[in-house]
Amino acid sequence: MAAMPGHLRTVRSPEFAGMVFHEVLAKSALNRVPGQSSMPFSWTVNPYRGCSHACVYCFARGSHRYLDLDTGRDFDSQIVVKVNVAELLDRELAKPSWQGEYVALGTNTDPYQRAEGRYRLMPGIIEALARRQTPVSILTKGTLLRRDLAQLADANSRASVTIAMSIAIGEHELQQSIEPGTPTTRARLETIAAARAAGFAPMVFIMPVLPYLTDSTEQLNTLLRDISAAGAESVMYGPLHLRSHVKPWFFEWLEREHPDLVQPYRSLYPGASSKAPQRYRLELAGRIRPLMRRYGLDARPANRPAASVALRTSATQLPGVPSPPTLF
Ligand code: SF4
Repeated sequence: MAAMPGHLRTVRSPEFAGMVFHEVLAKSALNRVPGQSSMPFSWTVNPYRGCSHACVYCFARGSHRYLDLDTGRDFDSQIVVKVNVAELLDRELAKPSWQGEYVALGTNTDPYQRAEGRYRLMPGIIEALARRQTPVSILTKGTLLRRDLAQLADANSRASVTIAMSIAIGEHELQQSIEPGTPTTRARLETIAAARAAGFAPMVFIMPVLPYLTDSTEQLNTLLRDISAAGAESVMYGPLHLRSHVKPWFFEWLEREHPDLVQPYRSLYPGASSKAPQRYRLELAGRIRPLMRRYGLDARPANRPAASVALRTSATQLPGVPSPPTLF
């Protein structure tokens, strides 16, 4: 990492045991989404690379390969921190060429992961976007979002701010096993309630639904009931998507935690296939859609990139939208 252009220093801190932060001076803050992408936004901002939330299924893992780090443990623990991202963003948004297009945060790695507690990059990012009246969507699993809700509400009065929380697993032990670095589902539901109280209409992404682990009617009913009670406005869902760089990591976890499911998963995701088969997706839709209607969570909010992403990629999960290999 020390050889990387822009590298300032590498930091280990007793408050973040097992974590390594690589502080870099980025060359740009706004990343253009590749032209051929089906994503409904053109720009993203990623203050961090790697994610301490450490979700086993995360398909952003591949982005760490470009840093010569591995897509497993390194992705979870070696976090690249763009310490100048807010200052750069402010400058880029001030250019006459900036068209005020939607900017998405949380499409690659989580902006409210643990490192944000130390580096506090988001307040500067939010302020830069609000100052230039730039609409933004934020997708996160991080309860640290609550720290910035007042600022986000102020930004929402100047330009549209959409908040989406990813909550896919209701059962505590399973959730902590497969998303070991994340806040609990309960804490995330409380964050939804806090966002609602701050004037937002939060969305929840139930992504990924895990075949045979979280997809029974009873499990989905409980989760949707709790999401509704927390005050979410709508829900998007999608079954597990297993890209090639995630598959070995995921199967290693499955063999350790649920060996009886290895064969059923190999049947659902044979060989190089990354998507659950259509038969499975139809069965899942048959179970979850009536529940979404029951709890009034089936609205399709218009003009919201986060929602549009989910609608267009219902066979995939977010975050984890692939990013271009040019990182800094
Ligand atoms: S799925 Fe999201 S929260 Fe989980 S590790 Fe990946 S980027 Fe982080």
